[in-house]
Amino acid sequence: MVDAVSPTIDLIAPGIDDDVCADPDAFLAGLRRPTIFHVRGRDRARARVVAGTLHGNEPSGLRAIHRVLVDRLEPAVDVWFFLGAVEAARAAPGFAHRMLPGRRDLNRCFRPPFDDLDGAIARDALAQLRAVQPELIVDLHNNTGHNPAYAVGPSTDGAYLGLTALFARTFVHSGMSLGTFSEAFADLAPSVAIECGRAGDPGADATAHAGLVRLLRLEDPEALVVTDPMAILVDPVRVMLRPGVTLAFAARPVPGVALTLVPDVDRHNFQTLAPGTALGWLEGPWPLVAMDEHGRERAHELFLDDGGTLRTRTTFVPMMATTDVAAATQDCLFYAASRQQ
Ligand SMILES: [Zn+2]
Repeated sequence: MVDAVSPTIDLIAPGIDDDVCADPDAFLAGLRRPTIFHVRGRDRARARVVAGTLHGNEPSGLRAIHRVLVDRLEPAVDVWFFLGAVEAARAAPGFAHRMLPGRRDLNRCFRPPFDDLDGAIARDALAQLRAVQPELIVDLHNNTGHNPAYAVGPSTDGAYLGLTALFARTFVHSGMSLGTFSEAFADLAPSVAIECGRAGDPGADATAHAGLVRLLRLEDPEALVVTDPMAILVDPVRVMLRPGVTLAFAARPVPGVALTLVPDVDRHNFQTLAPGTALGWLEGPWPLVAMDEHGRERAHELFLDDGGTLRTRTTFVPMMATTDVAAATQDCLFYAASRQQ
């Protein structure tokens, strides 16, 4: 039942008599490495791709995929499920590591050069999954802060919004090129990353599963329509720390720390911030770099140093803010976007 499709990835095509282990943790423990599951649909001529847990500390995608495998849900068309960061996900104490020490962030590896292990995993996954010519592509994630479920995609065309509406009511339009899984399919078909909510929140797991069931049952992608209003955010700017800058989250400035952010900065996620909003305190040289999707540096357009207090300079909507120092340092502090009128 297990085939190695490449030196880095296993392929499992559960047969009619194959039971999938009902316990999600035992299921994860039974995988050898990154694994693709191929489930036959009613229409064998078409295919969809769903990825889950490309970050090892984001369980919702894996749990949703596991549950539809256990339930033997027969999809409308063939579905190829990709479970990416299997080793990181099961490293003790479980779902705790975005990636293993010494490894790269897998969801930044889906573009050349593919010259290390994570690059090879990404290259081999793309070779297998692009070859099936999927008509829809979804990559399921969690994040660490307070966020509603939302999608990230490169177009606000109806099919993208309709695909999003299976999971969420908020869409972030991003032309950013980070080397993500969903970016690597955007030339083929509607392809979105879904941020299902906070890792470990049962509501996030439920969002992932409910949306996945809707995606699998959907007969015709042409029928993807948006019936309820959807919030659309545009022009995301990635706000990061300069290399080597120290960070803390606290209600008052932490001496010796270059940037102290207020401890509930993630409460502002998807809220419109007025100019002058205080976000934290600065000590020493300017700590921020803020890059938009065209590669322009915009930190001083968005923020100002008001006598040691970090304030917003313009109106924007922060997204994906985390209060996890490791996540904020490894990835980014948050994104600053604008609401489409
Ligand atoms: Zn993620």
